[in-house]
Amino acid sequence: MISETELISWRRMFHKNPEIGFTEFWTTARICEYLNKLPNCKLLYGKRLYENFPEPELLKKWDDNIYKSAKEQYKDDEWIKKLNGRTGLIAVIKGKKEGPKVGFRVDIDGLPIEESNKASHIPFKKGFHSTNNNMHACAHDGHITIGLGLAKTLAENADESKGTFYIMFQPAEELLLGGKIFSKLSITKELDYFFPVHIGIPEERKIVCGSSYFADKRYNILFKGRSSHAGGSPEEGKNALLAACNAITGLYGISRHSGGSSRINIGAFTSNNASNVISDKAQFELDLRGETDEVCKYLKQQALNIINGASKMYDVENEIKFVADAETAVNSTELISIVRRACFDAGIEKNAIVDHSLDSGSEDATFIMNEVINSGGLATYIGIGSPTFGGFHNKQFDFDEDVLFQGVKILHKIAMIISERA
Ligand SMILES: [Zn+2]
Ligand SMILES: [Zn+2]
Repeated sequence: MISETELISWRRMFHKNPEIGFTEFWTTARICEYLNKLPNCKLLYGKRLYENFPEPELLKKWDDNIYKSAKEQYKDDEWIKKLNGRTGLIAVIKGKKEGPKVGFRVDIDGLPIEESNKASHIPFKKGFHSTNNNMHACAHDGHITIGLGLAKTLAENADESKGTFYIMFQPAEELLLGGKIFSKLSITKELDYFFPVHIGIPEERKIVCGSSYFADKRYNILFKGRSSHAGGSPEEGKNALLAACNAITGLYGISRHSGGSSRINIGAFTSNNASNVISDKAQFELDLRGETDEVCKYLKQQALNIINGASKMYDVENEIKFVADAETAVNSTELISIVRRACFDAGIEKNAIVDHSLDSGSEDATFIMNEVINSGGLATYIGIGSPTFGGFHNKQFDFDEDVLFQGVKILHKIAMIISERA
C-alpha cells in the first residue's frame, strides 16, 4: 500500500517544477519513469498515444520549438527523448481476470502564475515552491500524485482484480485542449466507466460524487480599422479602439438567461497606437460561460451581434477566432451511488458525502465524459474537497495534503467495487 509520506513527497516534487499546457515534458517523463517500474503496468505515451493537436498550426510550433528546447534543457533525460513531442500518458493496468474497462482522469498542467514568496504560503515556507514563473495553482500536482498512488495500488494488487484500469494523465486542461485530444482516443470509446477528479472542489472537507461544470467558449476578437492623424485628419481614420471599447461594454451587458447562470469576461485587451494616431487595430480575449450548453450558445449569439454591431457603428472590420471550449456533461446516478459506497468503504463520514454540486468553473474532461456516454459507458466527475488557501489560480493557492491519501483510497475502492460486480 502506498504511504502518505510518499504521496506528499511526489506532490512537492511536481509542485516545485510546474509546466504549462503541452509543455509538460519533465512532468510526463517523471510519471513514466516511476510507472515503468511497476508490475502489471503498461504505458501509452508519445505519438503512439496521439499524433495531432486540435490546431494544426500549434503542431508545427511544438515540434520545431517547444519540444526541441525541452530536450536541450534536460539533455540527459532519457524519458523526455522518448516522448516524441507529446505530453501526457495513459497507464494501463490489467487485472488477473477479464472485466470492465475503467478509466480515471487526472490532469497534469500548471499555470503561468508567479508563485508567492510570502512566509504565510506553506510551499514557500517549506521550500517546495516554484521559481520558474509557472505554478500549480489548480491542484493538478495533487491530481498527478493521486494518479500515481492509484496506479501503484492497482498494479501491486492486480491479482485481486477483474478488468482493465486506465489512468489518464491528461495534458493541457487549463487550455481546454488536452481533454478534446483524449476524448478522440480509441480507448475512450471503449471505456465502460469513467471518473475524472478534482481536488478542492468544494473548498471544504466534503466529497462530491457528481460535480457539474459550466460550458465555456473562448474567442480572440480583432477589430481592424484605418489609422490617420488624430489632429490633422481624424475623419479619415476608422477607429478600431473605439469599436472594441463599445463592444466590451456591450458584452458585459448581455442580458441574463432564464435557463441558468452565466459568466462573461474580457482579458488581454490591446491596441498599440500613439495618442496622436487614430487606432487601426484593437484586440481582446473573450470568455463566455453558461450553466447549460444552451445558455452558452445564447451568450455566443448575443456576443456575435454586439461585436458585429460595434464594427458597423465605427465602420471597421472584425475577425472572431475560436480558441477553446468545454461542454457540460451529465453525471450517471448509478456511478454516483458507487462513489458514495466507495466513500463509506474509505471511512468518510456520511454527512461529508454530497451527491451533486455545480461549479462555475469549466472542465475539458467533459469531452471525454460525453464520448464515453455516447459510446454506451457511464461517467461521473468526483470532487475531492479540501480547504484551499488564496483561491484557485491565485499565487497563494494551496490545499491540505492529507486529501492525497484520501483520494487514492476512494478511487481504489471505486475500482474494487466495479471489479467485484463484474
Ligand atoms: Zn484551473
Ligand atoms: Zn484544475
